[in-house]
Amino acid sequence: MTVRVRLAPSPTGTLHIGTARTAVFNWLFARHHGGEFLLRIEDTDRERSRPEFTADILDGLAWLGLSWDAEPVIQSERIEDHRRAISQLLEAGLAYRCYASENELEQMRERQKASGSAPRHDNRHRHLSSEQEQAFIAEGREAVVRFRIDDGATIGWSDLVRGEMSWRGSDLGGDMVIARRAPADRIGDPLYNLVVVVDDAAMAISHVIRGEDHIANTAKQLLLYEALGLPLPVFAHTPLILNPEGRKLSKRDGVTSVGEFRAMGYSAEALVNYMTLLGWSPPEGMAERFTLPEAAAAFSFERVNRAGARFDWDKLNWLNAQVLHELPSADLRQALEPLWRSEGWEAPGEEGSGDGSREAWELALAELLGPSLITLKDGLEQARPFFERPTLDSGASQQLEADGATAALTALLERLQAGGSLSVEQAQALLSEAAKAAGVKKGVLMKSLRAALLGSLQGPDLITTWRLLHSSGEDRTRLMLAVAPA
Ligand code: GLU
Repeated sequence: MTVRVRLAPSPTGTLHIGTARTAVFNWLFARHHGGEFLLRIEDTDRERSRPEFTADILDGLAWLGLSWDAEPVIQSERIEDHRRAISQLLEAGLAYRCYASENELEQMRERQKASGSAPRHDNRHRHLSSEQEQAFIAEGREAVVRFRIDDGATIGWSDLVRGEMSWRGSDLGGDMVIARRAPADRIGDPLYNLVVVVDDAAMAISHVIRGEDHIANTAKQLLLYEALGLPLPVFAHTPLILNPEGRKLSKRDGVTSVGEFRAMGYSAEALVNYMTLLGWSPPEGMAERFTLPEAAAAFSFERVNRAGARFDWDKLNWLNAQVLHELPSADLRQALEPLWRSEGWEAPGEEGSGDGSREAWELALAELLGPSLITLKDGLEQARPFFERPTLDSGASQQLEADGATAALTALLERLQAGGSLSVEQAQALLSEAAKAAGVKKGVLMKSLRAALLGSLQGPDLITTWRLLHSSGEDRTRLMLAVAPA
């Protein structure tokens, strides 16, 4: 069998992390089997669907590296096929028009509530005579189309994640609406369960892989496949993503869309790696850090958990740090540059890429910060004191007031060239000489120098920091401010 899977997002919001994770599992399964990964934009909710959400979803999938194999199918363009399927069911007597008004349905629900019974449709118009039907039409009533669900039916399937599944027709809430309310000589807008079945069959989808919140829909959809005489796909229901407290991840948990993770400075590589681990465990001997192709080679539903997957920020951060630390400095610089530009920061140096160039300076900064980054955003915050003169934090102020600090920094200033290059050896020699001249330990001078340059006692390697700030003469300015604050 050729594997053909699909992601069927509704463009009613930005790309949600749950949808993206479903996309990951579909993609991995398709690639593992040399099959196809397809997209279908389920835009039939005309009020809530928007083209900018479609754009966000496609952009997010592309950013994550989840490439698809054909132009996305646009569900709204297939409405004639959906209507034809509904006519077929109506003609076969497997569906019928139901004229119950909103008001009547409301009363039915109230009664069910009062008697403590589960809400379900009571199938009241399943067997209308044509006289009754004509009478409703004469009253000007509109009708929905309902698909008959036999209470006695049992519906079973073998789920790739959850094993043998079984549902009773009586648990599906009564006859299901497959077309919205419309005048009785028309078929109203087709609804989700019907259109999904028609479209999955038309796209020759072999495996439907989606979140477990769709399990009850699958039971209903299986009845529709049977009624329409369509070949069945295999189903796999993936576990939900839970928040760290074990509840379904929701808007309230803060970040839920892929774009938000991206904006926070997570890399696509780490995020897809992490999403794969949300529900799938790699086989024995395979590390938790992997690329998409590596995961595709090893992927199977046997290692997808049934239990919900709790979101674990520490693991995502760990993975993101791994990715950033493995990045060559040139790539890291390229990733950081747009963030630095967005702050209006200009590196010192000449245009071009040689020695003393802006690019070389930025490369050195990327290399310096790289090992301590968890997200790219850290590469913005940690770079700040290299582009903007820092204000001193309390630790730095205290250090600069300590015995010998001013004398040592003054001694250093006296020996410091204005701008130009400063080698590691020169820097070390200057520190030794200045400390000696001021009669302080070299360590005291170094701590004071760090306080003066970065406004903090924390930060990356001091000598490299100093060399970077020296090239534009900025080190002198900061030292002068430290010894003689304005
Ligand atoms: N549009 C549906 C959703 O976004 C698709 C569900 C499915 O995969 O069938 O939930």
